[in-house]
Amino acid sequence: MRLFCPVSHCPNHRPEEGSRWYDAHGSYLSCGEIVQRYRCRRCGRTFSKRTLSIDYWSHRPFDYHQLITLFVSGFSLRGLSRYFSTTVKTVQNRFGRLARAILPALSEVQRRVELSESLVADGLENFFVSQDFPNNIHLLLGKQSQYVYGLNYALMRRKGRKTEKQKRRCERLYRRVDFTRHTITGGFTELIEQIKRLGPGAEPLRLYTDEKQEYLRAIEKDGEMRERMKEGSFAHVRISSRAPRTRSNDLFSANYLDREIRKDLPEYHRETVCFGRNVGNGLERLCVYVYHHNFVKRYRIGVAAERRTHAEVAGLSKAEVRRIRQKITEERQFIEDGQVVAGSFFDQLWRRTIPTPLKEAPDYLPRFAVV
Ligand SMILES: [Zn+2]
Repeated sequence: MRLFCPVSHCPNHRPEEGSRWYDAHGSYLSCGEIVQRYRCRRCGRTFSKRTLSIDYWSHRPFDYHQLITLFVSGFSLRGLSRYFSTTVKTVQNRFGRLARAILPALSEVQRRVELSESLVADGLENFFVSQDFPNNIHLLLGKQSQYVYGLNYALMRRKGRKTEKQKRRCERLYRRVDFTRHTITGGFTELIEQIKRLGPGAEPLRLYTDEKQEYLRAIEKDGEMRERMKEGSFAHVRISSRAPRTRSNDLFSANYLDREIRKDLPEYHRETVCFGRNVGNGLERLCVYVYHHNFVKRYRIGVAAERRTHAEVAGLSKAEVRRIRQKITEERQFIEDGQVVAGSFFDQLWRRTIPTPLKEAPDYLPRFAVV
């Protein structure tokens, strides 16, 4: 494991290759193992390999590969806690650790990928807390690769026919919830920022969506996108959601991932009792699913010769994918590194500032997420 000073503003946070920037500083016993401690020569901060590990501040080692495999194969949170003989809280804690490594990896790909395909954006409708609080999880995918380039979350009011009793309940509950913070238009506006981070891409860059008015509004409001549309380097293509959902549908990659999530994760099954109780936790788990989809799962399962992951089809090299996979299940990431864009959805999710409806107290930010 590469050593560096955990203090993000210390010059030794990114030490020079081969320089002797730390001293050995005794050792301590942790989880039955003797761990060597080091001390940074510049700022004096002491640290060990555990400080820099995904298992920082934890006492129970976890097989992260197994956790991820079981999760994407349909284990619920409670099922996982039974399997690992631990509490639901501990399992969720590990999802939180993984998500904080996945968000910087997704950001890095957004910055570095050479986009060579069209994009598809769509909202996956589900709910956290109760069916009175449906949401739209926006997913931004590659049209060919089905790689998930970006995602975010919007909160909605319950639609459709309601009984008088339901109407009164919703009215009462909605008074306690701020619906202006994560609207569909707001979410889509943020998704456009994520598209801009992907660079110019193939000319012209095509974005396929369904006919939701909010999407149109968000694009029309964006000066840069309007300009790009005028000069012909960006096109927004709207597809009717009534069109048959076949392989030849231009929204296929979004429809495909929607279906996969819906069948793989119990909290996305129809009429589920496994729904998420906390928005931040639910989105952290979804990040883990997206990670597996992007970097682990094979692009085509039925084709024996096809060994590439969705990330490789999107243009990443095998070595890059291997490095990302190793980083995510082993290394602790530091948000102060500026790895995710400040104020972006990824940043909000990292800092746990996305509110859960009806939950008044702010979310607790675990120790491993701060320095
Ligand atoms: Zn230092």
